[in-house]
Amino acid sequence: MLHVDFAILKTWNPPLMNAAGRKAVWTSVSAQGLQLTNSLEEAAWDVDPAQVHICQQCGVYGCYEGGYVRITRLEEHVLWTAPYMDETMDRLDIDTVASAIYERGAVAIPTQVWESWRSRVNNLPAASSFPAATRRELAAAWRMEAHPGLRELPWMEMLAHISEKLLASDSLGYDQAMDQIHALLDWFLEAPAEPLAGALKPLKATQARLEVLRFDGPAERDWPALAYEHGAWLPALGADWLYSEA
Ligand SMILES: [Zn+2]
Repeated sequence: MLHVDFAILKTWNPPLMNAAGRKAVWTSVSAQGLQLTNSLEEAAWDVDPAQVHICQQCGVYGCYEGGYVRITRLEEHVLWTAPYMDETMDRLDIDTVASAIYERGAVAIPTQVWESWRSRVNNLPAASSFPAATRRELAAAWRMEAHPGLRELPWMEMLAHISEKLLASDSLGYDQAMDQIHALLDWFLEAPAEPLAGALKPLKATQARLEVLRFDGPAERDWPALAYEHGAWLPALGADWLYSEA
């Protein structure tokens, strides 16, 4: 997950002209070396999926191939996740997702950072106007942390792959680790539209212990998928963040 503590805003001129026949002025946003949007002014914020990379020739939604995100609000964050291919939430639409999500997983923007962008570009919707994040978005954020090839599989294929390749996790044997993966998937899938009652928390600010799934294969395929805190198993979002309702 990419947590946007600090972003760089730059104004630039796309080739397109504005209604008055002058060069348009757009504001791009980058964080940790990745562009989040090429135009705070023209990104399609109020469409689902939103498009955060807009065609610089015409400025029309959908002309640029890709740049799509689903935008929700999760407590103190505006959360960008990969859109699903369809309603079943079985597969993420990796081919058209915004490049920052492809590279780093979900993008979490603190609402105060979002509001600071809004103070510069006033057509930006308020953070509070986005729909509440549900288990569907948390599942999308969670699975993006798995290695490419695993993260985009339909759930059952993903589960089959994990059960075939998993060796163990840091403190759990194979069977116990599989039980926790099953329990988390059941929770995601039994009520995908349920709004989330918790929040994203930095691992450092909790007592949680990270639990990395170790696979039979190169170490870069290992997945820090879970965290353990006060008797509860929680979804980890990369090595530094977790989701908790405590
Ligand atoms: Zn175009």
